[in-house]
Amino acid sequence: MKLNSGQLPWDHTLLNKPAYPVLGEDIRCDCLIIGGGMGGAMVSYRMSLSGADTVLIDKRAVGSGSSHANTGLLQIANDKSLTSCMNTFGEENGVLFYKLCQQGVRAILELPGKLDIDPQIIPRSSLLYASVPEDVPALKLEHENLTRHGFDSEYWDEERVRSHYSFSKPAALFSRGDAETNPLRTVHSLIDKAHSGGVRVYEHTKAIRYEFNEDGVVCHTENGRIFAKNVIFAMGYETQEMKKDRGAELINTYAIMTKPLSVVPKWHEQSLIWETARPYLYFRTTPEGRLIAGGKDEQLTDPERRSVRVLSQSQRLLEELVALFPELHGIEAEYSWGAVFGSTRDGLPFMGPHPEYPHCYFIEGYGGNGTVYSMIAAELLADTLAGKKRPELDLFSLTRTAKPVPSPAIQS
Ligand SMILES: Cc1cc2nc3c(=O)[nH]c(=O)nc-3n(C[C@H](O)[C@H](O)[C@H](O)COP(=O)(O)OP(=O)(O)OC[C@H]3O[C@@H](n4cnc5c(N)ncnc54)[C@H](O)[C@@H]3O)c2cc1C
Repeated sequence: MKLNSGQLPWDHTLLNKPAYPVLGEDIRCDCLIIGGGMGGAMVSYRMSLSGADTVLIDKRAVGSGSSHANTGLLQIANDKSLTSCMNTFGEENGVLFYKLCQQGVRAILELPGKLDIDPQIIPRSSLLYASVPEDVPALKLEHENLTRHGFDSEYWDEERVRSHYSFSKPAALFSRGDAETNPLRTVHSLIDKAHSGGVRVYEHTKAIRYEFNEDGVVCHTENGRIFAKNVIFAMGYETQEMKKDRGAELINTYAIMTKPLSVVPKWHEQSLIWETARPYLYFRTTPEGRLIAGGKDEQLTDPERRSVRVLSQSQRLLEELVALFPELHGIEAEYSWGAVFGSTRDGLPFMGPHPEYPHCYFIEGYGGNGTVYSMIAAELLADTLAGKKRPELDLFSLTRTAKPVPSPAIQS
């Protein structure tokens, strides 16, 4: 699958990337992780902490999949609001999902001091603005539900938004506890640390086919077989080529990173900014004084057409940025890219075992919070493989059928 098109960002921020060999022989391990993106990086790091005998392979260079296109916003709030999650999954499960995301962001924020390569993970606040006045009642309700369940949220009226940013919006929710990251550095720093902790890592090593046996899985690559007791598939959106999930949807999305600015615009606390419209636009700053804008999602099946669309879609993103911050007039994008993006129909990622694949576990962190989902999956799967029960996995079951749970106390 051609995952990414255009000029990808982040390479300039990590010039000497760690490199790993190609597998050239038959090997054995307790746990094989297939995929060296954010999902594989987080779970390999977590497995290394428990000393598990682990191998990680990637058919590309580490970090070259969707994680290279990732814009690095780490948020507790999801594409699907807490209110909507409570409506769909019931209050208890909706809140559980948000609490797991909160724990996931907190766990990511604790990483920097533990890693040898700086992942550039920085605590940030978030602003979720109402795209149109009609969204204000739902935003108020979301604020009530967030605060009632102990999540940080301030309701800001139009005047308060205007006094903190260059733009005016009918209302917004301002919250603390989120973060931004440099995804390429984060993936490399985690795999580098896992590698020093004993995880064997092989790049440019493609899993071609599998034999599922009673006592484990044999994974065939071009130059060697891997005999594993358990396999964690962390192949990102390309998992859909191996095992189609009816609840998963792949589309295309676009993003830009500007040249460094000499002046940061009127942008309160360099917060992460997004909106209530779906699909949404989102914006962030970087430690180098650049700005990132993303969105303009569209259905496109042909990756060649996506490559052609990068130019016009990036121009539109620049216009959206200048519409919010008129002082940025004349700003230029240094990197413009388009990429496959995955989400699920019910708004929850997939993670856990699958009845048709014995000894296998999947990390499919589909949705705008994929990095946070990867952290949740790493915790739940590492514990499961260590023999500890994690009933939270039921929420993310790969075979779930999303049945709306009526919740009379909450409006839809
Ligand atoms: C433009 C864009 C912006 C995004 N912004 C954000 C954001 O701000 N915040 C956020 O949290 N998420 C964001 N996401 C989502 C995020 O990128 C993903 O959730 C996450 O990076 C995916 O990580 P992954 O490990 O699942 O997949 P990948 O990074 O794609 O890693 C999977 C790896 O598996 C390897 N692989 C596949 N098949 C095989 C095989 N057969 N054998 C061996 N290796 C194989 C691939 O080479 C790849 O390296 C964004 C996504 C896009 C496209």
